[in-house]
Amino acid sequence: MKIARRTFLGSAAAASAILAAPMLGAQGRPRVVVVGGGAGGATAARYIAKDSAGAIDVTLVEPTRVYFTCFFSNLFLGGFQELDDLGHTYGTLAADYGVNVVHDWAVGIDRDAKTVSLGSGYALPYDRLILSPGIDFIEGSVPGWSIADQDVMPHAYKGGTQAGLLRAQIDAMPEGGTFVMVAPPNPFRCPPGPYERISMVAHRFTQVNPTAKIIIVDPKESFSKQALFEEGWQNHYPGMITRIGPDFGAETVTVNPETMEIDVDGEVIKADVANIIPAQRAGTICQLAGITDGNWAPVVPASMQSRIDPNIFVLGDASAQGDMPKSGYSANSQAKVAAMIVRGELTGSQVFPARYSNTCWSLIATDDGVKVGAAYEPTEEKIASVSSFISQTGEDAALRKQTYEESLGWYAGITSDMFG
Ligand code: FAD
Repeated sequence: MKIARRTFLGSAAAASAILAAPMLGAQGRPRVVVVGGGAGGATAARYIAKDSAGAIDVTLVEPTRVYFTCFFSNLFLGGFQELDDLGHTYGTLAADYGVNVVHDWAVGIDRDAKTVSLGSGYALPYDRLILSPGIDFIEGSVPGWSIADQDVMPHAYKGGTQAGLLRAQIDAMPEGGTFVMVAPPNPFRCPPGPYERISMVAHRFTQVNPTAKIIIVDPKESFSKQALFEEGWQNHYPGMITRIGPDFGAETVTVNPETMEIDVDGEVIKADVANIIPAQRAGTICQLAGITDGNWAPVVPASMQSRIDPNIFVLGDASAQGDMPKSGYSANSQAKVAAMIVRGELTGSQVFPARYSNTCWSLIATDDGVKVGAAYEPTEEKIASVSSFISQTGEDAALRKQTYEESLGWYAGITSDMFG
């Protein structure tokens, strides 16, 4: 874990110090507030602060002091990463880039007054607001499960403690026990994520519990990199993994956290470990801001600007933008476009046409990495895929190892792009 170079003030004190800045000390500098210090928000804050060289006052609002990446959390479940190595702090953003980091929740947005209210009771004024709050779950989407059950049936679909809990449950599972995943419907964060997770859980079981069984209950007809995953499961984990799709009732699932039962259209499965990944929507602050279409926040494809309020930009998972998958890579790519547009609007700096890209790597087994990716350009209607690539089934071991090693380089690159 990277160590913060600066000890932060408590949130209320920090907020009051920052509040003082635009009124007393900002000397007319335009103010950008970024809500959410993850793949989209941390990148946007760093790029605006770095490229405006102090001309813009940048405040980042993020409740957690250590951001644990969801990316590579599956590799932690598989035993390929330590949880600590997935934790990153905000000290460099503050010390080296001059970003005002406020550890607090944004709890409301007044779009007329252009202020963000914080849990501490303070309000931050903005000229432009960037929202990158990630996802929240749709309550009731898996009947019988609510967020209060996450300690018994973890989702492990937000970073940090949930991944630690799921790993502990996997390691404590009785010999020959059953691991059940309830997979989410589209659209959701990280389309290959559930299936990379299945691969990593299977890998772990081959080491600690080789007679264990894995069942995926999946409401979708098909899933990302399906042929690659299915080939890998057959090669590395024969007989361990069963997927129940919508044809067999997986759209009608009820769970009971007390009895650890999963009812799939009348057929009851008793789980020893149950990983429930519910349906998803934009982080709640987007709804509080009144900029969603119900579940997601629609954006202008050329800028990531909200279609409802041009002073607000929405990045990453929370945005409805078109063809890009909800991934850390996408959020990081979108953040750089938004940072450029925001600087252009506030300081008159040059703006170039938006270009986006994404690659999602997945690890299936030791040194067996696969990837899918695309380049994107904005149209009036959406961010559209203009070219794409995907790993092929039957690739040789050297290429798969190289693909895995590429992913390690990507992780190092994106985290330093986010946190400096
Ligand atoms: P996040 O990175 O989740 O950041 C949101 C931040 O906002 C959080 O830190 C949260 O605390 C904060 N926040 C929320 N609400 C508020 C509020 N009201 N006030 C203040 N702060 C708030 N992507 C990849 O590119 N590659 C991968 O290999 C990959 N693997 C994944 C594996 C798994 C198991 C999962 C679950 C995801 C994976 N992803 C991967 C997806 C990736 O994690 C997300 O797409 C990415 O983090 C989205 O970035 P974001 O900025 O939208 O949200």
